[in-house]
Amino acid sequence: MNTTPAPKGPNRGARPQKKFFHRRKFCRFCTDSNITIEYKDPQTLRDFTTERGKIMPRRITGNCAKHQRELTVAIKRARTIALLPFVVSEG
Ligand SMILES: [Zn+2]
Repeated sequence: MNTTPAPKGPNRGARPQKKFFHRRKFCRFCTDSNITIEYKDPQTLRDFTTERGKIMPRRITGNCAKHQRELTVAIKRARTIALLPFVVSEG
């Protein structure tokens, strides 16, 4: 019996590359303590909304549950005081 270990070839650097969105392994707010979730900071909040003004789902943003929740609250608050749009209308 000749047990040949399956030749895998140069397999280093084999990381699955998703084209769709830059997926972060960890929550951005947990990773960088400099960023705070503030409803007064639409710049940051806008990163987590779509072009249409919708809140991005957690699986795309990679946020943890805690921060995603804070973010959602902040975005909704920002909308209420007109810092962010509810819906971005076409045209
Ligand atoms: Zn977090």
